[in-house]
Formats: sequence, structure tokens, C-alpha cells
Amino acid sequence: MTQTILITGTSSGLGRATAQLFQARGWNVVATMRDPDAERELTDLDNVLVTRLDVQDTASIDAAVEAALTRFGRIDALVNNAGYGAYGPLEATPLEKIHRQFDVNVFGLLATTKAVLPHFRAAGSGTIVNISSMGGRITFPLGTLYHGTKFAVEGLSESLHYELAAIGVRVKIVEPGGIRTDFGGRSFDFTNDARLLEYQPLVAAVMGSVGPMMEHGSAPEDIAEIVHRAVTDGTDTLRYVAGDDAQQLMKTRTSSDDAAFFAGMRAQFGLEV
Ligand code: NAP
Repeated sequence: MTQTILITGTSSGLGRATAQLFQARGWNVVATMRDPDAERELTDLDNVLVTRLDVQDTASIDAAVEAALTRFGRIDALVNNAGYGAYGPLEATPLEKIHRQFDVNVFGLLATTKAVLPHFRAAGSGTIVNISSMGGRITFPLGTLYHGTKFAVEGLSESLHYELAAIGVRVKIVEPGGIRTDFGGRSFDFTNDARLLEYQPLVAAVMGSVGPMMEHGSAPEDIAEIVHRAVTDGTDTLRYVAGDDAQQLMKTRTSSDDAAFFAGMRAQFGLEV
């Protein structure tokens, strides 16, 4: 029987590449996004349902799950991909931006997962892939909020994988390094306040490092292959480090103690050691 996957945030980047890859590999794809009326490409593909899902809008999550079941009869896999990065000095960041970052990257992921679980439980099977980041294992300066959300995704996924084994459901975490997507553009929500002079050297150093990191990142199609592997490899592997940069950085992280690793990061960003 043809399998069905529901993916959040398919209007661009990794979500879009993942939708295209699963469709090309013969899956039914529920490609969800905030503004499906603007979509032209995915709507033309066979076995793809493009439908609205805003992870901040619970009714839209329920409606998308319902639409998926009506069209394809079942859901076999969920990819929680929707997300963006709120960066900048905490002191400069309004509370509503703090809430929004956790709403989208954490509470939205939990709400979408919760909406799919009754169907997975009834089927006695299912796979959930949560798109974390290498930024869910290590941090860069000025990423308090983004890293906070991705560390949360790591912790909640790790705990959930024990719990959901009871209903035959696998949980997977994909941890990409840089990916050449809109993440460094419209999904990069940087807040600063130039009057806070003490933070400005760090702001300049971080802003100077973002462009090159994205440019040298992986193609979204290559990371989509790793998402595909996570869904289909039939193993209980929890974490998938995705991309050469992420592999390299994780190797450095796991072979260093905190003091050595943080000293390396400080040196990279020109901070006093
Ligand atoms: P992207 O091209 O900017 O895609 C982000 C997607 O998230 C867009 O489709 C966006 O939809 C969607 N989104 C944002 N808020 C949403 C909401 N409230 N409800 C539903 N969808 C929402 O960036 P990307 O790189 O593909 O990011 C995808 C995932 O990869 C994110 O979780 C990100 O944290 C992770 N990641 C990215 C990188 C990287 O370097 N690019 C590295 C590690 C991890 P709209 O079009 O409606 O805004």
C-alpha cells in the first residue's frame, strides 16, 4: 500500500525538497504550508495534497490532518519541519518575539505531533521526524532563543521516543548543519538595539559569520535524503547528524570538554578568552 507523509513548512527550503523527494519515491505527500494559495509547483504533482497548516493555529493543524485522512485514508509519517531562527541580544528582544519563537519551533511541533498521534496509535505504527539542528547540540552566540528551541526539540524528542515505542511509533531527530535555504533570509529574525553598545562587537562578528555559513551549507535536497533515510531505514536510530559541517562540528564537540569547546567558539567569534 502506498504510504503517506505529512510535512510542515513546505513552502520553501528543506520542507519543500522533502515533499518533492518523497513524491518522487512514490509516497502520497501532504504538503502543508501557511499560504497554500500561493503555491504553484507542488500542486501540479501527482499524489500531493497541498493544504493549509500554520503551526500556531491549532484549528488549521486539525483541519490538515483531517484533509490528509480524507484524501489518502492514512498517515504513516510526520515531518515537523516548520521553523525559523530568532537571534540577537536577549536584552534587545521584545517578549512577543520570544514567545513567537517557542510557539513556532516548539509548541507548534508538539501540537502537530499530538494531532497525529491518535491515528498512529490506532494503526499501531508511525514515524515522526523532528527537524532539529546542529544548533540543538551546540550553540553560537546571540542564539539564545533559537538554540533554546532546538535544545527543547532534542529533549522532548528523546523522552518521547521511549513513550511512543509503547504504541509502535518511532521518533527520529534530524540535525542539519547549514542548509542553503531562506533560513538566512526571511527566516532569520535578527533583533538588535544599537544603543546597547556593549553587545555590538559580538553582533558584528555573528552577522559576519551567518552568510558564509549558509553559503557553505548543504543543498536542501541532500538533507531531504537524510530525512528520507530516517523515515525508511526501519531502525530505532534516534539522531541523524546531517551535512559535512554538522558532522565536523559534532566530532569536535564530542571530543572536547566544555572549557576547550567554548574557548574554540570564543576564538572563532573574536571574544576575549
Ligand atoms: P526556510 O526555507 O526559510 O523554511 C522555513 C519554513 O518554515 C517555511 O516553509 C515557512 O513557511 C515555515 N514556517 C515558518 N513559520 C511557520 C508557521 N507558523 N507555520 C507553518 N510553517 C511555518 O528554511 P529551512 O532552512 O528550510 O528551515 C526548515 C527547518 O530546518 C527549520 O526547522 C530550521 O530550524 C531547520 N534548520 C535549518 C538550517 C539551515 O541552515 N537552513 C539548519 C538547521 C536546521 P512560510 O513560507 O509560511 O514562512
